[in-house]
Amino acid sequence: MQQVRVVEVGPRDGLQHEAVLLSPLDRIALIERLSEAGLASIEAGSFVSPKAVPQMAGTDEVLRAFLNRPQLRLPVLIATDKGLDAAVAAGARDIVVSVSASESYSRRSLNGSIAEAIERLRPLMARAVAAGLRVRASISCTLGCPYEGSIPVSQVVDLAEALHGLGAHEILLADTIGVGTPGRAKALVKAVAAIVPVDRLAVHFHDTYGQGLANIYAALEEGIRIVDAAVGGLGGCAFIKGAAGNVATEDLVYMLDGIGLTTGINLEHLVEVAVSISADLNRPLSSHVGRALRAA
Ligand code: MG
Repeated sequence: MQQVRVVEVGPRDGLQHEAVLLSPLDRIALIERLSEAGLASIEAGSFVSPKAVPQMAGTDEVLRAFLNRPQLRLPVLIATDKGLDAAVAAGARDIVVSVSASESYSRRSLNGSIAEAIERLRPLMARAVAAGLRVRASISCTLGCPYEGSIPVSQVVDLAEALHGLGAHEILLADTIGVGTPGRAKALVKAVAAIVPVDRLAVHFHDTYGQGLANIYAALEEGIRIVDAAVGGLGGCAFIKGAAGNVATEDLVYMLDGIGLTTGINLEHLVEVAVSISADLNRPLSSHVGRALRAA
């Protein structure tokens, strides 16, 4: 049976957009429980200013708690040399960097044009690759931008090619605001996979318009086997009011199980984590599968 690697992004991309702050110890416990449920790739935090993102303060402590677990992949988001230094010092083996396919979004959220963002990443990624780190490079707004509307596929293809050339281990096609539909998701993956090997591509979709799983299915049909999701559907987007969270990991795992793609994840166990983290964050359980299994 074919495998899909599910990358759990709740402890970083999810929690970063939640109002309730969890301590590093609570985040360690969450990652531990996700790992027990069978997740082997878990976005663990970020090394950015705790003033800008208080939710991720103490990520060094989180990483150090898992130093003796080399089989767990725990990517951490960085944006600068200082962040890379701190990540390496804490024992990071996987990092995440981010660019946007939208010029306007790049200028507003990443403080520079797309070209400037790539020029900033060039030396940073060279250092990371030379240090033996695996780099996940995320491209945001690939299926739409809050300022520009739709984004030309060719713009995403060019960026993916550039990031691949800079040594990215994985390239994430993110639908940051969740506006994509399956036909466009399929066309996007097909176009990028013509330039970058499909086993180097991952999708990161949001569920704002309820299209997340359908878009993932379309991407699977094009050969994608690495998919991001967040337990309990945690998260949102800081730049868009009302943008829904990431696709819920339990909804994704239920679909993959049904298709016959293996993930190594125990669905019941995962739902227990979704229920408890949702309660901790004072948010309703947002996943369909979580609510259905709980009622059953
Ligand atoms: Mg996200």
